[in-house]
Amino acid sequence: MQELKFSSLALRPELLQSVASLGYSAMTAIQAESLPPVLAGKDVIAQGKTGSGKTVAFALGLLARLNVKRFAVQSLVLCPTRELADQVAKEIRKLARSIHNIKVLTLCGGMPFGPQVGSLAHGAHIVVGTPGRISDHLRKGNLQLSEVHSLVLDEADRMLDMGFAETLDEIVAEIPVSRQTLLFSATYPDTIAKVASRVMRDPVMVTVKSTH
Ligand code: ADP
Ligand code: MG
Repeated sequence: MQELKFSSLALRPELLQSVASLGYSAMTAIQAESLPPVLAGKDVIAQGKTGSGKTVAFALGLLARLNVKRFAVQSLVLCPTRELADQVAKEIRKLARSIHNIKVLTLCGGMPFGPQVGSLAHGAHIVVGTPGRISDHLRKGNLQLSEVHSLVLDEADRMLDMGFAETLDEIVAEIPVSRQTLLFSATYPDTIAKVASRVMRDPVMVTVKSTH
């Protein structure tokens, strides 16, 4: 397949700059296939192996839609574990380096509650977290998702394996239906198709077998 460069995408110059400063030039296969519909605002289900570069695909999608001047949670990324949420937040922060004053907050279980409540009081544009802790904050009224326009379910297969289906529904119910929903997964079992049919609208399916 012909190599496609990030610079062929309709991305703001500062985002292209961040991508270049990370040393990425050619898109991986899943990025090349998913980024055009993601940037067009469509709901996308992207299936690809671990290591295929899925994080950059959804991170660029949500950063492209973000309005940094509006200080409210606009993007929510759900991950199965704290380790993954930390990795994803790190990658988003790197890609967002050229955007001034952007706030990315991680909210995961296994971490003390109090400091998270304090951070939430200060506000954030992007929240990355695990479903259990996000739903705890929602129930306690610490977190508002009424301005979220980008929802990402990362490693959706693992989240469902861990029994998070109901928690995901609970969280999604707090987010406006006019959102963009992106679902990333290494596998595509029936359980994912069911969740997708509940939380996504007319999704574009992208399946990539290779890692690069
Ligand atoms: P996945 O979520 O599909 O398992 P990751 O998003 O964690 O994969 O990416 C795997 C690795 O590939 C990371 O180290 C990331 O920095 C790197 N990577 C992502 N996109 C590119 C690219 N276009 N060119 C080179 N390396 C990339
Ligand atoms: Mg990943």
